[in-house]
Amino acid sequence: MQLHGWGRYPRIDSEQLEPASIEFVQAIINDKGFRDSVIPRGGGRSYGDSALARNVISTRFLDSFLQFNEEHGTIRCGAGVTIEHLLRVAIPKGYFAPVLPGTRFVTIGGAIAADIHGKNHQRDGSFCDHIERFSLLLASGEVLECSREENVEAFVATCGGMGLTGIVLEASLKLEKVPSITIRRESLVSANLGECIELIEKHQASKYSVAWLDCQAKGEMLGRSVLHLAEHEECGSQEFRKRWGPTVPFSTPAFLLNKYSTKLFNNALYSLRKKTAGVKIVNYDSYFFPLDNIKHWNRVFGRKGFMQYQLVVPTDSAKVALTEILKLVADSGKGLVVSVLKKFGESNENLLSFPSAGYTLTLDFKNEPTVFALLDRLDQIVLAHGGKLYLAKDARMSENVFKNSYNNWEKFVEIKNALDPDCKFASLQSKRIGLTSQV
Ligand SMILES: Cc1cc2nc3c(=O)[nH]c(=O)nc-3n(C[C@H](O)[C@H](O)[C@H](O)COP(=O)(O)OP(=O)(O)OC[C@H]3O[C@@H](n4cnc5c(N)ncnc54)[C@H](O)[C@@H]3O)c2cc1C
Repeated sequence: MQLHGWGRYPRIDSEQLEPASIEFVQAIINDKGFRDSVIPRGGGRSYGDSALARNVISTRFLDSFLQFNEEHGTIRCGAGVTIEHLLRVAIPKGYFAPVLPGTRFVTIGGAIAADIHGKNHQRDGSFCDHIERFSLLLASGEVLECSREENVEAFVATCGGMGLTGIVLEASLKLEKVPSITIRRESLVSANLGECIELIEKHQASKYSVAWLDCQAKGEMLGRSVLHLAEHEECGSQEFRKRWGPTVPFSTPAFLLNKYSTKLFNNALYSLRKKTAGVKIVNYDSYFFPLDNIKHWNRVFGRKGFMQYQLVVPTDSAKVALTEILKLVADSGKGLVVSVLKKFGESNENLLSFPSAGYTLTLDFKNEPTVFALLDRLDQIVLAHGGKLYLAKDARMSENVFKNSYNNWEKFVEIKNALDPDCKFASLQSKRIGLTSQV
C-alpha cells in the first residue's frame, strides 16, 4: 500500500503490519526476515517521512490501559493509546495530559518518539519529561525496561529518537492534576513581530501561550499576530468532549492555492482572531486542537501535499532571525495559512529532542518545485543563528543541515548501533539525514 505522513508528501509503497498484541509485535520482529528497513508507526500525524519505510509496524492497536494510580496520577498504557483516549480516561478523574500537541490523534508511542511539545513548554517541558518508564522492543527481540534509572542510554536515545532505537510497547506517564478543563483564554493583538515577542516575554508566567501570525504581512506589519494566553479555570467542566465537524471530502485543486488566495485567507483569519481579542472562556478542545474538528483538513493543500517547516532559534537572535525568515516568506508569497510562534524553555537530556531555549515558528508550504529552494534559504538562516528544524515535521532537510544543528547526533548513533547493530530500524528520513545508511 502507499503510505504517507500528514503532509501527504512524500509517499512510499510499503508493507504495513498492524499487530493487535505485544506478542504479535515480538513475533514479527523475531520471525520476519525483513529485506529492507522497518519503522514503527503510530497515528501517522508526523508530517514528513519519519514514519515511512518499506516495512512499517503500526502500534495503533496496542491501545489498552494497564494501570491507573488515581492517587499519584500515573497511568500505564499501550503505545497505541492516543491523546484522545488518554483524555477520555484522565479528565473525569480530575487529571489532564501534561503536554498536548495540536492534534488529539497522536499516539503515546509517537509522542515519545518525537518528544513532543505543547503550548506550555516554558513551564512544563516536553512530553518525555513526564514519562516515568517504558518498555522497548529491540531489534534482537529482547524487551528493555527504560527509565531515568534503568537503561538510561536507551531512554535518552528513544525519547525524541523517531522510532530508530526500537518499538515502544507500553509506557507510564505522570498526569497533571488540574482544577478544571475549562480554559480562560486571553487574546492580545500585536501589530508586528517585535510587539509579539515583547508580549510573549511579558507574559512568560502564563500556563499556556501561543501566537498566531499572519505570515503574508509585510513592512510595518511583518509578523502581526494574535497571542493566545490561557489558564485552567478554577471552577469549570470535568467532562471529556468529542466533537466532529465537517469533512474535506477530496483534495482541493492545487491552483486554488496561490499567492492571492492565501493572502486573502491569511488576512481573513488574522482579522477574525483580532475580532475575538480579549478574555473568553473556551472549551479545551477548541484551544488545544483547533483543526481537529475538520476531518482530513490536510486535503485542502492539494493532491501533491504540503510541508510544515518548524524551526527553533535561540532567544537572543530570535527577533533578527525571524524577521529575516518572515521577510523571505512574505516576499515569496508561498507561506500558507496562519503560522504559529511559541517560546520554548530549556532543553532536556534527550539526544534528539527538538525543543531548546528560544522561539519556535511553524510555517506551511504547498509542495511545489519552487518551494525547495526557498526552504534551503530558510535553513541557512536557521543554521546561521544556531537553530534547528523539527524532525517530526521534516520531509526534506539535508544531512548537512541536520548534522550541523543536532549536536548530539553522534552520541545517538553510537547508542543506536549498540541497540540495533544490524540497523533493522530505519526510515526514509533517517536515511536522508544520515542517521542510518542509505541501503
Ligand atoms: C495538526 C497537527 C498538530 C501538531 N502539533 C504538534 C505540536 O503542537 N507539538 C508537537 O511536538 N508536535 C505536533 N505535531 C506533530 C506530532 O505530534 C508528532 O509528529 C507525533 O510524533 C505524531 O505521533 P503519531 O502517533 O502520529 O506518530 P507517527 O506520525 O506515526 O510517527 C512519528 C514518529 O514516531 C515513531 N513512532 C510511532 N510509534 C512508535 C512506537 N510505538 N515506538 C517507537 N517509535 C514510534 C515513528 O517511527 C516516527 O518516527 C502535530 C501534528 C499535527 C498533524
